[in-house]
Amino acid sequence: MNKYFNFPIEKFQLKETPFYYYDENLLRDTLKSLIEEIKEKPFIIHYAIKANHNLKILKIIKEFGIGVDTVSGGEIKCALEVGFPSDKIVFAGVGKTEKEINYAIDNNIYCFNVESIPELDSINEIAKNKNKIVNIAFRINPNIDAHTHKYITTGINENKFGIYINEIYDIIDNVLNNKEKYSNIKFIGIHFHIGSQILDMKIFLPLVNLINEIQEKLKEKNIEITYIDVGGGLGIDYENPEKNPIPNFKEYFNLYSKINLKPNQKLHFELGRAIICQCGSMISRVTYIKKGLNKTFVIMDAGMNDLIRPALYQAIHQIRNISNLKEEKEKYDVVGPICESSDVFIKDYYMNKAKKGDFFAFLSAGAYGESMAFMYNARELIKGYLSSEF
Ligand code: PLP
Repeated sequence: MNKYFNFPIEKFQLKETPFYYYDENLLRDTLKSLIEEIKEKPFIIHYAIKANHNLKILKIIKEFGIGVDTVSGGEIKCALEVGFPSDKIVFAGVGKTEKEINYAIDNNIYCFNVESIPELDSINEIAKNKNKIVNIAFRINPNIDAHTHKYITTGINENKFGIYINEIYDIIDNVLNNKEKYSNIKFIGIHFHIGSQILDMKIFLPLVNLINEIQEKLKEKNIEITYIDVGGGLGIDYENPEKNPIPNFKEYFNLYSKINLKPNQKLHFELGRAIICQCGSMISRVTYIKKGLNKTFVIMDAGMNDLIRPALYQAIHQIRNISNLKEEKEKYDVVGPICESSDVFIKDYYMNKAKKGDFFAFLSAGAYGESMAFMYNARELIKGYLSSEF
């Protein structure tokens, strides 16, 4: 029997479906493994809160002493609400509004990961009005293809994220030589995020090499930085979650150990999916089984508004019929109730025979599941529970 992926379905009967179920043991074991692998390395982890901002989850993550990577004022607020120290919060995003910048400065976050010159000017102006000096890093678009889904590739040239690598040295020079204009910002480093759900470590290698080159160039120019943030992106095994519940942090951090850090430099990571994905499952019940001409549709009480990844990214989540653990396979299209033909979780999928009322677990749904849920068709917003709440 697997140590994780055991579902208390008798207790599920007492809850309204659908809901997200988070295996607290798996979350804690994942975090322990993460911390173990960075031990004695000059590495700092910021949990990418966009993956899941459920406050109960955040409280557990906070216990492990890591920081937070945010992309909105709302995310900063969530992090502060559960007690993450403000000096462990970093803030990225291409469209930070004045309201968000004000909020972040008022709360003394550690660093703004700046994605454009207009944004830099805005931060400097707002900081000036408050008589404060704020840390900034530039997000560099390194023109590296993450070979992942086009919606989660973020580091290639024609892309809204970051500052083009060819422009970066001029921009840094301009900021450092214009102390009067940029009086209220302190340039501390560089930031990247090339994409998400990356399993082949070789894909990160060009980034490691590029950072080493940038380090050399900055040294030639006598420019010192203390902060190097490589973003997130480490993938998880969606095909075989039961076999690989915890990502290969060792291999990932070993690769990044190839960056030549100076004694006063820290390497920052913004991992989201790798931390939270496998511990979360969406639990939903079968409303109807409907025979089509050639297909059998299993209609669930969860829809694309509860888990958008299949409709948005053509993502495949393994689905288990946890009410029937016997090996009796049938082929189904598993669909939701929403009035959109894209509301399909999976097609032609073999799984244990289903009947009305059965509980299905949609695995690997802890990241970009609950946090992306919405209320289309005036449906209630889906809730999330920790395993310890059952
Ligand atoms: N950092 C930034 C800037 C991001 O945009 C993202 C995801 O979109 C992440 C970190 C987290 O990525 P992942 O969940 O793949 O680790």
